[in-house]
Amino acid sequence: MRNLAYSVALLGLFAFGAQSGDAILLPDKVPVAVIDVQDAQSPAAVQLTGWIGGRIAASESNRLVRIDTGRLLEGYRKRPGRQAWDGEHIGKWIHAATLAWVYSGDELLRKKIDAAVSELMQCQLADGYLGTYLPQDRWTEWDVWAHKYNLLGLLTYMRYTGNVAPLDTCRRMADLLCRELGDGPGQRDILTAGSQHFGMASTSVLEPMVLLYRLTGEPRYLDFCKYIVRAWEQPHGPRIVSHLLARDGVNQIGNGKGYEMLSCLNGALEMYRTTGERTLLTAAVNAWQDIVAHRLYPTGAATAEERFRGDGNMPNQNNVGETCVTVTWLQLNAQLLRLTGEARYAEQLEHIITNQLFGAQRPDGAAWGYYVQMEGKKPYSDTLDGHCCLSSGPRGVALIPTFTVGTDAAGVVVNLYDAGTARLTLRDGGKVTVSTATLYPADGHIKITLTPEAPRAFAVKLRVPEWCGHFTLKVAGEVVTPPVSADGYVLLQRTWSPGDQIMLSLTMEPHLMRGGPGNEGRVAVFYGPLVLAADTALLGTADQGIGSVSLASADPGALRLTPEPAPAGFQTWPGAQVFRLQGVVRQTSHGLTADTPMEIRLVPFADAGCNNSLYRVWIPLAGARRDNLLRDGRTTRSGPWDRTRYDGTINDGNPATIADTFEQNKPAQEAWFAVTLLEPVSLKRVVFVHGRNDRDGGWFATTDGPPRVQVMTAMGKDWETVGNLTDYPATSVATAGQLRDGARFEFVLPEPRTVIAVRVIGVPASGDNPAQAFASCAELEGY
Ligand SMILES: [Zn+2]
Repeated sequence: MRNLAYSVALLGLFAFGAQSGDAILLPDKVPVAVIDVQDAQSPAAVQLTGWIGGRIAASESNRLVRIDTGRLLEGYRKRPGRQAWDGEHIGKWIHAATLAWVYSGDELLRKKIDAAVSELMQCQLADGYLGTYLPQDRWTEWDVWAHKYNLLGLLTYMRYTGNVAPLDTCRRMADLLCRELGDGPGQRDILTAGSQHFGMASTSVLEPMVLLYRLTGEPRYLDFCKYIVRAWEQPHGPRIVSHLLARDGVNQIGNGKGYEMLSCLNGALEMYRTTGERTLLTAAVNAWQDIVAHRLYPTGAATAEERFRGDGNMPNQNNVGETCVTVTWLQLNAQLLRLTGEARYAEQLEHIITNQLFGAQRPDGAAWGYYVQMEGKKPYSDTLDGHCCLSSGPRGVALIPTFTVGTDAAGVVVNLYDAGTARLTLRDGGKVTVSTATLYPADGHIKITLTPEAPRAFAVKLRVPEWCGHFTLKVAGEVVTPPVSADGYVLLQRTWSPGDQIMLSLTMEPHLMRGGPGNEGRVAVFYGPLVLAADTALLGTADQGIGSVSLASADPGALRLTPEPAPAGFQTWPGAQVFRLQGVVRQTSHGLTADTPMEIRLVPFADAGCNNSLYRVWIPLAGARRDNLLRDGRTTRSGPWDRTRYDGTINDGNPATIADTFEQNKPAQEAWFAVTLLEPVSLKRVVFVHGRNDRDGGWFATTDGPPRVQVMTAMGKDWETVGNLTDYPATSVATAGQLRDGARFEFVLPEPRTVIAVRVIGVPASGDNPAQAFASCAELEGY
């Protein structure tokens, strides 16, 4: 009965959306077991015209419409394509472009989608295969993954266009997967069918397989989904659910790879919605709690080197903030918001979108960044080659209208504040238009006008952001102090008449976050929902470095932070602002004297670096000791980036976090640890702190001499040996001699050098296992 009511409400919703983009619901054959607490909206129901709306429009008109779909289909037209995961982009584009078309109704975009879908369908082989691999290479790397995205893209297309032509294509893809992958006789193990990341890449096909099961009612698709959940728990699997139910950190699951794991969890939530298997929800909620408590950067980024890291091990650089992780993290929050209706997920959505997601999108929408880090330059690119992230970003943006303003059993729910209009259908079929006028986040005044067809009683739930210490609320001109409901929303329950107004005024104030390990003596500055950053394009003096800026105080009031209209180069939308505050010169350079007061301006992270300038989120406090010159650098090492035994950071001041160059059964002849800086420094002294001796290696062998210290004087120049660690004890490839774990070695340069990078290099040891060799390092410091 509840299912029926829900279906009727959804039908009404989508039919109503037909005014833009002709959205049509393709009804599922299998009803969901768990009804969403908060309904996702068709993008056609919502139009946004503020800052967020501008970014959505830019993503469509400057990115999705302009994509060369011929390039996306290239690997299918002429297998195997130029790149191992070339096959994922077309499905991701169809997903994002379809949502964008439903939102805008752009006919040109629709024609382009129709043509791409039609050609993709023609690329399917007779047995159902729709990947980019040659027959002998099937199911070895990223082709289950590509089938996942083709299914997701085509399912989204069918659902919103009503054109069911691709249904047979989807069924044949799914039938092939069900035939070839499984734990029955003659079937291939899905965990090894893409040798990547403990099977988390291939098993993330769960999400569209669940959706296809609901659409078709085909029992074998559900069996396949159950097989995937079983496979996770195999001894060689990632054991996602059991780890999370045991409250282990997400960094302990498989190899901690963020994009693949979050993709699996999004599938697990779709499975929960379908079957009601509650442990899947509990597992996902536990993952969410672990990420929020331990893995999040101030901007909403969650990974370094594409993986969740151990507690307190969060470097500012080192491939931080993969955009695919940002988007799948956004999707996880959107799923949890639908399933639970709890405001805390909407809080994260605002945080992700206004900081890390928009920080990865170039403000004009035409380009995206892969790793969007806590400091450095924004790596905007407008191609797709080899870049998973560049086709992920627009998917995140296209999903925003589905949860900005929603409905639940009680009435209307407002999750994000952006100017615009939502034409909503309540669950009983009643219609209400919600219009929002605001410059938010440029100011905190939000006017919401409700227009039901006739006066009627329902609830309006407003999300008051967690950062907001003070707000006022007026309804129809009268101040009200409504309760906060159990789901975390401020609850306005009354009879609403057409034209009734809600005035919400959020007091916008700066607030500071203290830096943790690696960022001691530094703070991240927030204004309302926005994380602010220093940017060299906003520093007063020509050639002044990002390292010259520090804040005058850790007291937000003493900083006298004042918003002002953004200057040229940062006018990314009509409300664009920068923020003037009290700084102090951190180091003497370019005619500035250390410790003198200096007004500085910060810019929202979303716009930071948009002039190809250097930016920084963690800003030092005046007086904080400036010690290790290498602390702000990016660390690299020889060997593979994702198969090392220890993956610690070597410039975070914490010798407990060790890095090594270990690779299973790969004896290297040479091993090194390096730090590369954003700006040159004058270097007098280098300290190398040894990591750990293992039975099978972990140190440098000194048979041919001690480890050498090398410097690079400018980017792109050759490494230059300046000396070696003469105090390093005598060792061999087989024995570590007198070398103790954590031993500290110092090298003084004959004369100070201006350098951009430093490394220590030597011959790695193999201990009792000559099949391999590796070195380890706890810290690399420069003074
Ligand atoms: Zn990516």
